[in-house]
Amino acid sequence: MLKTIEGFNRIGEENAFAVLARATELARTGKDIINLGIGQPDFRTPDHIVEAAVKALRDGHHGYTPATGILPLREGVAADIEKRTGVAVDPDKVVVVPGGKVTMFMAILMFGEPGAEILYPDPGFPIYRSMIEFTGATPVPVPIREENDFAFSAEETLGLLTPNTRLIILNSPANPTGGVTPRAEIEKLVAGLAARPDIAILSDEIYGQMTYDGAVHTSLLEFEAIRDRLILLDGWSKTYAMTGWRMGYAVWPQALIDKARKLAVNCWSCVNAPAQYAGLAALEGPQDAVADMMREFDKRRKLVVDGLNALPGVSARTPMGAFYAFPNISATGWKAKPLASALLEETGVATIGGPDFGILGEGYIRLSYANSAENIARALERMGEFLSNKA
Ligand code: PLP
Repeated sequence: MLKTIEGFNRIGEENAFAVLARATELARTGKDIINLGIGQPDFRTPDHIVEAAVKALRDGHHGYTPATGILPLREGVAADIEKRTGVAVDPDKVVVVPGGKVTMFMAILMFGEPGAEILYPDPGFPIYRSMIEFTGATPVPVPIREENDFAFSAEETLGLLTPNTRLIILNSPANPTGGVTPRAEIEKLVAGLAARPDIAILSDEIYGQMTYDGAVHTSLLEFEAIRDRLILLDGWSKTYAMTGWRMGYAVWPQALIDKARKLAVNCWSCVNAPAQYAGLAALEGPQDAVADMMREFDKRRKLVVDGLNALPGVSARTPMGAFYAFPNISATGWKAKPLASALLEETGVATIGGPDFGILGEGYIRLSYANSAENIARALERMGEFLSNKA
C-alpha cells in the first residue's frame, strides 16, 4: 500500500467548496438555490481589468515571468500599499502568488514543524488550521468572541504565547465573522509582540479595503517594531472581484524573502502572465467599481442584519468588514451544521455551519451577502418560514 507522509492524514478542507458543489448539484436537479455560502463577490471583474488581460495576451505576454512577478506589478503593489498606509515598501519584498491562500501555505510551511506552536483565529479561515496540522505543528486557537464584536483581544492572544510559539496569524477584517479589530487593540498586541522578536506574524489583510460605517482598517505594516518579521497577505480576489483569476501577493521581511522566492520557483514558476497585467490595471486604474461594489455590499449588509435579527432564535451583530454575517443561532434549538444542511436541503438556501471555521464556531452560521438584495430577501423569508415551523 502507498504510504504518504503523516501530514496528509491531518490536512483539512474548506467546506465552502463542498457546500458549493452540493448547491450546484441541487440546482442541476431544478431546485431554486440561493447561494449565501461561498465567499466571493457576485460582481464581474471590472471591464478595464479584463481588457488589460486581453491586451496582454494580444501583446504576446505568453511566457514565464520572474517568479515573484513582473517588476511593474511589484512596483504597483508597493505604490498602492504606500498610498493606503503611508508605509514605503520595497518592490523586491513583494511576491505575487496564485491567490492569497498560497501565502498562508508558504508562511505556515516556513514555521510549522512538530514542537512549534502556531496561533490562529478561531473561528477563522479553515485553511490556517489545516495547514498547521499538515506541518505537524501544534495549532493554538485564539478565541474570537462575539461579545468582543469578533475582534482579537490583545490580552487573550498574548496570554497564549509560550517559548514554543513561532508564528501568529491575524485576520482583520475577518472571515467568517466580519469583525474588524480596532487600532487600540492592535497597538496593544504589537507592544506585546515587540518583546518577542523570535515570533513571526502573518497578517491576513485580504479584506482590508472592505470596511463599513467608517470602521478603519489598521495594517500591521504600519508598526515598525514588528516589520522585520511581518508577512503581509493581501491580493486582488475580494477587492476587485477576481477570485477566479488566482492573484494574490505578500510583502515579506528581508529574513524570509529569499525563502519565499525559492518556494515560488519550486512550486508555480510564476503567476500566469496576462493575469499579472490585469492585476496592474486593477491597482492603477479607476477605483470607482470598488467603491460601487462596497456601496452595494453595505446596503445588503443592513438588509441581512435586520432580516436575521427578525428571525426566531437568531441574533446578529452588525459586521464592520468583509461581506459576511455570523449570526448566533443557539437559541433556535439547532446545532449549526445540521441547521446549515437542513436550510440547504429543505429551503435551498446555502450557508456554512460555524464549526467549519473552528471550535468556537458552534452556535453560529455564516452567510455571505455576495448575492442580490432580492435573493437575500427571499433567502431570509425562507429561513424565517423554516425556523418558525421547525424550531
Ligand atoms: N484569507 C481569507 C481570510 C479569506 O477568506 C480568503 C478567501 O476566502 C483568502 C485569504 C484567500 O483568498 P484567495 O482567493 O486570493 O486565495
